[in-house]
Amino acid sequence: MSTFDKPLKTYRDKRDFTRTTEPAGGERTPSPEEPLYCIQKHAASSLHYDLRLEVDGVLKSWAVPKGPSLDPKERRLAVMTEDHPLEYGDFEGGIPEGEYGAGTVLLWDTGWWEIDREWIGSTSKKGEESDLLDPVSALGKGELKFVLHGRKLQGSWVLVQMKGRGTKNWLLIKHTDEAARPGFEIEDEEPLSVSTGRTIEEVAADVAGGTPPGGPGDG
Ligand code: MN
Repeated sequence: MSTFDKPLKTYRDKRDFTRTTEPAGGERTPSPEEPLYCIQKHAASSLHYDLRLEVDGVLKSWAVPKGPSLDPKERRLAVMTEDHPLEYGDFEGGIPEGEYGAGTVLLWDTGWWEIDREWIGSTSKKGEESDLLDPVSALGKGELKFVLHGRKLQGSWVLVQMKGRGTKNWLLIKHTDEAARPGFEIEDEEPLSVSTGRTIEEVAADVAGGTPPGGPGDG
């Protein structure tokens, strides 16, 4: 099997790997027992958070403009983007000017995820349970109920596809459980990288060579 096979074609078509430091992917072995979960804080043309969940050997991805909320009353828009390679789960750094997604990426949370069997079992209508227990068919149905085992985010969540708004728009909502925290803004309280402990400004400064724009290190 080629490392440039179909599943990541859109991802690769959008990027020039001689310029960006993002991974081309195709090397890492999937981990179906504990599928990867990560969220990246991405200061691109507009700041957003990218939620990624390993499904079928790739990272299914959603751009969440406001980031996740621990408040079950908050329904956060999550716009589905192209599948990313598993290697993206470690990525932190800069995407050069002129490249797709140009800006700074900080690894904000990481861990693994699983389908929320308990929640699905307690709420599903007859016959639909088996669809929602399989990640691929659950995404096809537009309803993914899942548990996060991250450093910052835990507990039960749902991604629901919005009706009549195209296929890309979903809502990310915290389920009411012990990990829910109404009114708590976790992005403000815990802004640092889980891999390097840096702020996004520090990541950007390190990418630029540790000197401010216009400083002696330029060029
Ligand atoms: Mn992004």
